[in-house]
Amino acid sequence: MLSVVVPCFNEEQVIEAFHDELHARLDELQEPYEVVFVDDGSTDGTLSLLRAFAFRDEHVRYLSLSRNFGKEAGLLAGLRESTGDHIAIMDADLQHPPCLLRRMLDLQGEGFDQVVARRTRDHDGPLRTLLSRGYYRLVNHWIDVKLIDGAGDFRLLSRRAVDALLDLGERNRFSKGLFSWIGFNTVFLDYTDAPRAGGSSKWSYRKLLNYALDGVVSFNSRPLRLAIHLGLLLSGLALAYAAWTVGSVLIGGITAPGYVSLLVAITGFGGMQMVLLGLIGEYVGRVYNECKQRPHYLVSERMPSDVARRSESWTRSS
Ligand code: UDP
Ligand code: MG
Repeated sequence: MLSVVVPCFNEEQVIEAFHDELHARLDELQEPYEVVFVDDGSTDGTLSLLRAFAFRDEHVRYLSLSRNFGKEAGLLAGLRESTGDHIAIMDADLQHPPCLLRRMLDLQGEGFDQVVARRTRDHDGPLRTLLSRGYYRLVNHWIDVKLIDGAGDFRLLSRRAVDALLDLGERNRFSKGLFSWIGFNTVFLDYTDAPRAGGSSKWSYRKLLNYALDGVVSFNSRPLRLAIHLGLLLSGLALAYAAWTVGSVLIGGITAPGYVSLLVAITGFGGMQMVLLGLIGEYVGRVYNECKQRPHYLVSERMPSDVARRSESWTRSS
């Protein structure tokens, strides 16, 4: 069975078109399927549309989160809910064309655990393209796993790949990194993404910047190591400066008593403090986040169970 997981946040303008298109394509596949929509705390009519889909279409299930937890949480919720052997992840705005699913399934049949649709950046503005390209170049120096530009969440995963993802219980989820971390046979499939079919992107530049920082910081400790290196460098410079001053005092006598040793001490200790702060911060940040042990999200409504139960009791009482 194929499961399609779709996180949605305020998508009332496109979700109907998306559902129709997806439905048509999935019917063509002639394979059993389910669609798992995750409403990520939408404040518009998204949830009522999802209810309607689930009522009239037996393939559709949905979860509604108690507030906006972000796409990563929505994705996790959807993956946990999915029951298929092949799990596709798609956006609700038709930027991920459902017609690719056929080829993706064929590739999975050839033994690939991750079939990744990689978008070309034809519809992005020049600034965003430039920033993205720069980011990937930079981040691949800092991160242990490889991130591929354009390879996002649109992918078809095998059951064992999804199980592997679900085993990674970390709070700070950076999917791009997690997908790459689990490994398995991966194949890429290029496609030109369409502009959004309606509504607007939830990503402002500020959000993107935070996401970018999140990616670097939450995935591993290399950036903090950079602080350590910087600290070592400063300490080294201070040491060299100290040696130079001592040397010149020995040769030429004292010219500026007090002042030099003070400067050496300040820079030297400053450097060392950075080393130690980096080291401590590396652990504290991680421990703090994980030890809170909060759930990744809260579910406020789910269908079939909740609503089916509610309408059942309603039928019984009336
Ligand atoms: N999304 C979500 N929660 C959020 C933000 C976005 O579930 O807090 C969903 C959104 O509904 C869409 C997908 O994630 O289905 C991608 O979002 P968007 O199209 O805004 O991102 P972009 O395609 O511009 O990267
Ligand atoms: Mg989009």
